[in-house]
Amino acid sequence: MWRRRFSTSIGSSDVFGTLTKKKWDAVVIGGGHNGLTAAAYLARGGFSVAVLERRHVIGGAAVTEELVPGFRFSRCSYLQSLLRPSVIRELELGKHGLKLRNPSSFTPCLDGRYLLLGPDQELNHSEISKFSRLDADAYPRYEKQLERFCRFMDPLLDVPPPESLHGDSSLNDRLSNKMYKSAFWARCLRQAASLGQKDMVDFMDLLLSPASKVLNNWFESDVLKATLATDAVIGSTASVHTPGSGYVLLHHVMGETDGDRGIWSYVEGGMGSVSMAIGNAAREAGAEIFTNASVSKVLIEDSGNVKGVLLADGTRVDASVVLSNATPYRTFMELVPNNALPNDFVRAIKHSDYSSATTKINLAVDKIPLFRCCNTDHSGPGPEHFGTIHIGAESMEEIHSACQDAENGMPSRRPVIEMTIPSALDTTISPPGKHVINLFIQYTPYKPSDGSWEDPTYREAFAQRCFKLIDEYAPGFSTSIIGYDMLTPPDLEREIGLTGGNIFHGAMGLDSLFLMRPVKGWSNYETPLKGLYLCGSGAHPGGGVMGAPGRNAAHVVLQDLKKIIPQQ
Ligand SMILES: Cc1cc2nc3c(=O)[nH]c(=O)nc-3n(C[C@H](O)[C@H](O)[C@H](O)COP(=O)(O)OP(=O)(O)OC[C@H]3O[C@@H](n4cnc5c(N)ncnc54)[C@H](O)[C@@H]3O)c2cc1C
Repeated sequence: MWRRRFSTSIGSSDVFGTLTKKKWDAVVIGGGHNGLTAAAYLARGGFSVAVLERRHVIGGAAVTEELVPGFRFSRCSYLQSLLRPSVIRELELGKHGLKLRNPSSFTPCLDGRYLLLGPDQELNHSEISKFSRLDADAYPRYEKQLERFCRFMDPLLDVPPPESLHGDSSLNDRLSNKMYKSAFWARCLRQAASLGQKDMVDFMDLLLSPASKVLNNWFESDVLKATLATDAVIGSTASVHTPGSGYVLLHHVMGETDGDRGIWSYVEGGMGSVSMAIGNAAREAGAEIFTNASVSKVLIEDSGNVKGVLLADGTRVDASVVLSNATPYRTFMELVPNNALPNDFVRAIKHSDYSSATTKINLAVDKIPLFRCCNTDHSGPGPEHFGTIHIGAESMEEIHSACQDAENGMPSRRPVIEMTIPSALDTTISPPGKHVINLFIQYTPYKPSDGSWEDPTYREAFAQRCFKLIDEYAPGFSTSIIGYDMLTPPDLEREIGLTGGNIFHGAMGLDSLFLMRPVKGWSNYETPLKGLYLCGSGAHPGGGVMGAPGRNAAHVVLQDLKKIIPQQ
């Protein structure tokens, strides 16, 4: 008899019977950290929940995988900061195994200088003073202003946008929607008033301007501006001179670690530990998680209501509601029959921006790289190894010219590389004395005009270009490589399910945020199909390991489930 075994990395069981024998209150397509978050909240609300993940491992882009024996890699995302404090607190992720370690930021220069930034304000002052005394004095004011902007944004992140209702709705629903919208906008106005006019104008300037303009207004030294500008372009196809890149900068300083703003941390055991902790919280609350369970279709009743999903092997799973953690494109263009959706909705989803110029290389090395500018002969890790290391980003023009190569269809000749060495702080992920290195690389077009990512020689040549660039700063780096794994945009799409390789489930431009994410009119996690919801990064407030889309979506679904299923 045909039998199937789904296993999860947080415990395995023979669960085929469990999956098909009953109608679930909710099924979640995808076990990325947002799908798991949504599942945890729904299960805690007393509903039966099944998470169906197509890969052999949960986590999506927040995953740890042992790609070279003995070396455990954060295969995609590699630093934590954005995870909402509400998610950490409410799901008790500390209890479920989440442990953080703080890094800093290090930008080596070819002229022998370097810039080291971290949580120590005095050290930051003396480091920036090496380049500009004026910048050193301005930096704390810049940080304080960003902190105020983040406080302004906080309440927007943790709630569904004030979307209008769709279709028939009861008088009660219409009244509560009206009250929610009024309360929402009243709170925004109060927040805006508390910010004051000067900050409000600066805030608008940051949202709408190129990051280069904002940073040029604050600072004079190239290396400081370039270091800060990397946050404005990371994961996007934009240049520092692209209007709106200022918002991406803000998005990347919105997080906090132990109450400190903009601090990024390593997670012990890699980013998969975030997903594991959330998965553990979900399972503890009663959710069931199935891996190797690829959904091929969302099932729809004649009435237009969603009634479950079909797996790739033909297994049917019944559910009262379905949440999709897959990208909006994959959800609506691949899993739902096109004719089930309104034309204007299909058009908007189809033409959303899924471009990507990101490549991730994960390396196992036999020694820690020694940076020429540090002039140290220590064999173990030093402060320069603890944080994000910015290679090929000594000036904003250098970042811009790397971007221009991609605009011309080719991978950057001198790529911008954010290098991290998590094993410098986390000894659980590599053998003693050896290290795990992440390279987040830009800019690599999805379809290069001078070759193909499917061609092994072309891929290898690009990887070597990156390694040689690092050699310029840390001689001998290339010879320390034991093995590596490379994910170009098409690989990110194929392996992780990220449409176009876009790391955020769709660009984070101002035209696709908040009430316009994923598309206008559908920002509150509902979709044109009754009973189908989005719960991943393609929904508000977007990408990054935040948990916010999953948590917000679950709150919307909980309200709806309570109406259709009597509470236990
Ligand atoms: C290279 C890279 C580096 C990054 N670095 C960082 C970083 O350092 N810090 C940070 O905060 N963010 C980072 N990000 C962004 C962040 O990782 C993502 O935005 C976030 O993890 C997305 O989470 P998600 O749960 O919304 O979706 P995903 O993680 O994409 O999860 C979606 C899940 O759905 C599954 N799925 C899709 N289709 C189906 C189907 N048909 N059936 C069943 N399952 C399905 C997928 O396999 C996947 O597991 C990075 C992303 C990448 C790619």
